[in-house]
Amino acid sequence: MRRQRPTLIAVSTLIAVTLTTAPIPASAQRAAPPDQVTALTAHQADGYTTLAWQPVDGATDYQIERTPVDADNTPTGAPTIVGIWRPNRQINQQAPTFADAGYNPGDTFQWRVRARTGTTEQPYSDPVTATTTAPWGNPTTPGEQLRTGWETTHAAQYTSDTDEYAYTAAIDALSDRVRVVELGRTVQNRPINMMVIGHPTPAATPEAVAATAPVAINCNVHGNEPGDREACLIMARQLAFSTDPRITDLLSHTTVLIVPTINGDGRANNTRGNSTGQDLNRDYSLIRQPETTAYIKMVRDYRPVAGYDGHEFGNSRAGDLPMLPPRHQNVAQPIFDQSQDMIEGHMYAKGAEAGWWACPYGCEGGGNVGLSEETILRNTLGLKNVTNSLLELRSSGGQTRPDEGNTTNNRRRKTYSALWTFHQFLDYHRADRADILKARSEAIESQAANTGRLVFRGSRPIPAHPAPHPGDSPPPLDAPPADLILDSPPCAYKLTDAQYNGARTDGPGGVGTTVAQRIAAHGWKVITIGDDHYVPLNQPERGLIPLLLDGKGVEKLTDGERVYPSLTGRRNGPLAVTGFTCADDATINGPVTVRAGAALVTTATTISGPLTATGATGILLADSTINGPVRIATTDTISIIDATIAGPVDLSGNTTGTDAPVLAGTTIRGPLNCTANNPTPHNLGIANTVHGPRTTQCAAL
Ligand SMILES: [Zn+2]
Repeated sequence: MRRQRPTLIAVSTLIAVTLTTAPIPASAQRAAPPDQVTALTAHQADGYTTLAWQPVDGATDYQIERTPVDADNTPTGAPTIVGIWRPNRQINQQAPTFADAGYNPGDTFQWRVRARTGTTEQPYSDPVTATTTAPWGNPTTPGEQLRTGWETTHAAQYTSDTDEYAYTAAIDALSDRVRVVELGRTVQNRPINMMVIGHPTPAATPEAVAATAPVAINCNVHGNEPGDREACLIMARQLAFSTDPRITDLLSHTTVLIVPTINGDGRANNTRGNSTGQDLNRDYSLIRQPETTAYIKMVRDYRPVAGYDGHEFGNSRAGDLPMLPPRHQNVAQPIFDQSQDMIEGHMYAKGAEAGWWACPYGCEGGGNVGLSEETILRNTLGLKNVTNSLLELRSSGGQTRPDEGNTTNNRRRKTYSALWTFHQFLDYHRADRADILKARSEAIESQAANTGRLVFRGSRPIPAHPAPHPGDSPPPLDAPPADLILDSPPCAYKLTDAQYNGARTDGPGGVGTTVAQRIAAHGWKVITIGDDHYVPLNQPERGLIPLLLDGKGVEKLTDGERVYPSLTGRRNGPLAVTGFTCADDATINGPVTVRAGAALVTTATTISGPLTATGATGILLADSTINGPVRIATTDTISIIDATIAGPVDLSGNTTGTDAPVLAGTTIRGPLNCTANNPTPHNLGIANTVHGPRTTQCAAL
């Protein structure tokens, strides 16, 4: 069950913290003017200060003033209005907060806050003075002392590509918790690195990392939106070297995957696209480019269960941190719901405590953004059953952060707001791991069942958060047009050999990888019979497959032939399967033998009798029941998801190339024997229930 997080919890927590940690200021002890802000507190965190105060009745908004002071509390610069708090800023209006950021971390300031009633300025609060938190890490402790180029230049320069490689290599060398792996190379041959971070050490292989339910942060896909990348680099240092029990606890329960720069060429040239001009965040489904291909192969191999994708957004009126879940209507409902829970349940509530203005993408006058293109990582990950969100850092200070004409102030506010978000993301995963995994397994099982309509474009609606809410404008409606809806899903797509293996010209330099290579990068199972290649829909990425292989696909790879079920309803007597056979909503009373070179794909089907396949090209069972033993030997492609099997199961001598047999979410009333399969079967992170002994290869399934 998904918890609701009522606003009241955040309110009461905040009030409790304020009451127990803040001394009662003098202004609250004497009789303050009725319209004066009282009980101002300043709480320090990495790169920002949370200011909190008692609200003033009838206030239209509040102004936050900051003054630099020296050690004697003597001003060293002019007081400046650095923030405007507006009522649409946070879900909890009774405990206003504002995250002040942009200053040089480590400097000392005095803050005051005043209400405005209309345009009338009320008296300022009594001041509070504090020294802000210096950049993380003791300057004399090895590892902790590392700094990025951005930090050493006080945000005057972004960290260069070569600085990044040296910095991440130094972290790798100095911390047992971090391993830097190269996922691939950009068009211009820059490495695409990923930091794999765990405690006390990260798991050794992608498959072992996948077993930890990892989280993935993609820090910089648009080369001219670098604020998140600097946050990722700082967070990597904290995760690598911090002795804070919170950090070691987080890293003991998952693996954090950080890709600082997927688009190194675009970053080096400060361009949105890669060196070919391709917007990589319109390519994650098509994977025409080496950068996106590297990321999608990483998702296939490491199987992150949750993600964030970092951007900056050019809207001076919007909130600090616009966010958005995967909305494409082919994304399974539990993934959409869990992503919304992460954003609205967690980030809005925690943002109201810390003073950051998280809001729905669009937020206020945001325009036609955040739609259903499956080419966008947010949607691609959702279609891969990953709870995730887009993160936008508001580019300019705008009306509510009027002190960001200074470039370094602006850059620091953006980066430290991203750092806050990414830490909150890790906390959410730690607290809600069971819910995230449950949503993922429900999503995979519902996708593999291949029920319900398919849409080729179209988003779920996202209603405005109940008032008082962060932001006025929910993301635009994006309903699927009638001609992009397919009410009756096919069982599979059939591709000719020319479609599957033919040369393509849609990659850099007019050269593209084949459809076969891209399907392999996505990790979909394919059944080959003669010159025909079948991609069944009873797979975990059922919502994504048609978008690339159906003639109706808006941005597709090819026009595959829809193959509909050939076996439905009741059938009595033994069945010998030849060719490609698809059973849906069928009841087969009798033993089933899948002949050598043949394939059986089932959904919502019951087989009463043994199921035997020897030398078959493929067996893909989902949402099906087998009332008898199952024996699958020397078969090329195997997937059993959410099945119930009353009898022993024997998987033996199956050689399936790089594509491991899947046995997931299945109940077996009998022993499970797995012998001499290469590679070893896996369970996608969804445990099976086996009422009998298991042999070594399936012992952990
Ligand atoms: Zn962007």
